Amino acid sequence: MEKNYNPINQKLYYSTVIIVITLMLLGLFVENPLLQDPGIGYITHGVLVFLFSVCLVIYPLYKSYFLRLTMIIVIASYFYTIFFLYPDTWSNFIFLCFIPAFSILFYDKKLFHFSLLLNTFSIICLFSYIVKVDKGALFPYIREDLAGNIINFIGSQAILYFIFFISSERLNKQKLYYEQIKHSERLKTTGQLAAAVAHEIRNPLTVVKGFLQMYDNEAANHVDRKRHYSLMINELNTAEQVISQFLSIAKPDKEIETELVDVKNVLQSVTDLLNTYGLLHDNKIVLSMIDDCYIQANIIEFKQLLINIIKNAIEASKVGDSVEVTAEMKKDFVEINVIDCGQGMSKEEIDSLGTPFYSLKAKGTGLGMMICFNIAAKYKGSISFNSEKGKGTTAIIRFPTTKPVV
Ligand code: ADP
Ligand code: MG
Repeated sequence: MEKNYNPINQKLYYSTVIIVITLMLLGLFVENPLLQDPGIGYITHGVLVFLFSVCLVIYPLYKSYFLRLTMIIVIASYFYTIFFLYPDTWSNFIFLCFIPAFSILFYDKKLFHFSLLLNTFSIICLFSYIVKVDKGALFPYIREDLAGNIINFIGSQAILYFIFFISSERLNKQKLYYEQIKHSERLKTTGQLAAAVAHEIRNPLTVVKGFLQMYDNEAANHVDRKRHYSLMINELNTAEQVISQFLSIAKPDKEIETELVDVKNVLQSVTDLLNTYGLLHDNKIVLSMIDDCYIQANIIEFKQLLINIIKNAIEASKVGDSVEVTAEMKKDFVEINVIDCGQGMSKEEIDSLGTPFYSLKAKGTGLGMMICFNIAAKYKGSISFNSEKGKGTTAIIRFPTTKPVV
């Protein structure tokens, strides 16, 4: 989406840059009183015009934090320099008031606050200089109404702060909205995909199961064979159950059986089940701080969600590390944390979770998190991740709580 708008933005950006550079050059060369005898002041002016022009031109190529900071410092130096060099141009004072406006364009809270502080500090120094040293000789329009100028300056900073606050709020909301649309689009596609695949597999499975049941009855006298048939039928039953769950993702409105789930119990049984899996690489699952909490959900789906997430945590862990699981009652929801000290994820990797077939594992299916997000959404719960590359991950699972009937 962002890419689609880039060409238009770039065109607009460079047209504006050309206008700004032209205006700075006009200021430097047209009727400039310093031109007759160019000294150190004029050279400084020229250097700052050059530096700022270069920053503006290269900015789209290197949108780094350092370059932004440099641009803020250069633009502040530029406006303060021309204020001192051309005292007769009283309108330069207006530019001083609006220096932080420039950093609003970066939508960076830290840079904006830095720019606001830098400008306030500089203006205090400037006013002190005018009062103590200049005594209104070069800048009478400031000295004569010092109080008025101070009030105007504070007012201008307040206006800028307000503009920044409103626009960044709006931008954040838009970002969130865009993320939500992306996420729901993803859920829609996965739903359709799941339905198609599951539907195709379910029919042949039913046929095979039917025949197996028939042979199972016939093989009544062979104890060994009977055991094999039962095993095969059990496996097919499991496969059928998984497929039904896929189909339930595709049809979220379908009635599903929910019950009061004792989270503590479920966590205990899931841990018992997965501890054997963890033994492969000497990983243990440690249950700590488990409150008594209850949710209303389908127990199979809830277990499936926990198994997927704890399994991912084990798979991300180094040999011998433990995975910690906590469950806490918060105000009106249950919060389960699955904490590992494993490989961790970057922000981009976290954003990709839930995309069908997204997996960084050699034998991964990339369907686990997609199913988990669907299950959580179905029960108005949520799953979020705190993670740092190389340090570990905390998966935070939240479900609305229900009180057990006593
Ligand atoms: P799969 O486990 O089959 O790869 P998932 O949807 O369960 O599919 O997970 C997708 C990917 O997310 C994984 O391949 C892994 O790279 C990443 N991931 C999930 N959980 C964690 C975790 N706790 N730590 C690090 N990476 C994780
Ligand atoms: Mg997985």
